Amino acid sequence: MQYSNSLSFAQSLDANDLLKKFRSQFHFPKVNGKEVIYLTGNSLGLLPKSARQYVEQEFIDWENYGVEAHFDAKNPWFYYHHFHREALAKIVGAKKDEVVAMGSLTANLHLLLVSFYQPTKERYKIMMEANAFPSDQYAVETQVRFHGYNPDDAIIEIKPREGEYTLRTEDILKAIDENKDQLATIMFGGVNYLSGQLFDIKAITEAGHRACAFVGFDLAHAAGNVPVKLHDCNVDFACWCTYKYLNSGAGGVGGIFIHEKHANNFSVPRFAGWWGNEESTRFEMKKGFVPQTGAAGWQVSNAPVFNMAIHRASLELFEEAGIENLRKKSELLTGFLEFIIEEYNAKNSLQALKIITPKNVKERGCQLSFIATAEGKEIFNQLSSSGIVCDWREPNPANGGAGVIRMAPVPLYNSFEDVFRTAEALGNL
Ligand SMILES: *Cc1c(COP(=O)(O)O)cnc(C)c1O
Repeated sequence: MQYSNSLSFAQSLDANDLLKKFRSQFHFPKVNGKEVIYLTGNSLGLLPKSARQYVEQEFIDWENYGVEAHFDAKNPWFYYHHFHREALAKIVGAKKDEVVAMGSLTANLHLLLVSFYQPTKERYKIMMEANAFPSDQYAVETQVRFHGYNPDDAIIEIKPREGEYTLRTEDILKAIDENKDQLATIMFGGVNYLSGQLFDIKAITEAGHRACAFVGFDLAHAAGNVPVKLHDCNVDFACWCTYKYLNSGAGGVGGIFIHEKHANNFSVPRFAGWWGNEESTRFEMKKGFVPQTGAAGWQVSNAPVFNMAIHRASLELFEEAGIENLRKKSELLTGFLEFIIEEYNAKNSLQALKIITPKNVKERGCQLSFIATAEGKEIFNQLSSSGIVCDWREPNPANGGAGVIRMAPVPLYNSFEDVFRTAEALGNL
């Protein structure tokens, strides 16, 4: 695509955008009465207008039925997780019994590590990317301690090479091979939250399995952003949150994937609760846990229906748009953002916004991250005052002491004009 930094160019792409109608199905925050240019759907997705109605239905049924809403509601609460499986399965490339909407991300990650991090004296190491989201680092660190190992020894972090900001797949695969006798589990991000790098899920999983390790992914920044194929890639387990690209509201219900080869194996260790019990006997309140088949057997508590109602509203939009169609638009949209940032840098000899997200579209989703030089915070503040909502990560030794600006044009509701307006705001700097 030959991009051009002009309003008419952006508007012509918008006019041809088959997904353009979805923009009007979201609420955009306003500042001084004007809708912002929202480029932080990677952090908190916007509110689908339909969500209120989905939640209202649950209020109505609660009001009318009380406890009987478990069975008499329009969407019976007892079976609530069934309503999300099909759409979720498409988003993460799974069979519908391999996924379930439940719990919340970090808590789910702990539950999955209970099942898939079972260290032994010989095989006790767990591998992850350096600069993983802190919650994941804390989860892994405390899991390792819980099992009586020392995190400094048991956690293998894969770091970028000197002077680089993203990982090379060859380095990841090499590290897996080098640790093949001690590796219990690999737990990588799908897309790294800071760099925006999309990892090679298939290659990492294959290498992990050659090393006889379990392989799982935290898809917080991948679910709803890039199509993934968890089942076909033979991934053992995965989890994600739904308030980022999946627009299901802060603290909303999370989701998990467990490959069917494990999901139907009742001897896989798990921390159980009544909602994971066999559905036909769940309310008999009998002694002795009998897991449901599939990922649903990992459910612990009864479904948070209000959160899950919002989630459903958003998933319906994904169903209608199609994750592959979203990806097509996303590549163009992020390519356009990359183009305008490069133009800005070319005019600005300081390379003020050095892109650290991989150039190769196969190695990224919609987010671009920029290492900001000395005046990065100033650029960020000025963008904010022009109504461009992006995100600033404070300077961190992991980025050579620089701050990072992240922008994520989301294909479901961002437009090419949004990207042009960002260029315009930068042009005034
Ligand atoms: C956003 C995010 C989290 C947040 O965890 P919660 O339990 O939902 O608060 C955790 N891990 C990753 C990789 C994230 O991107």
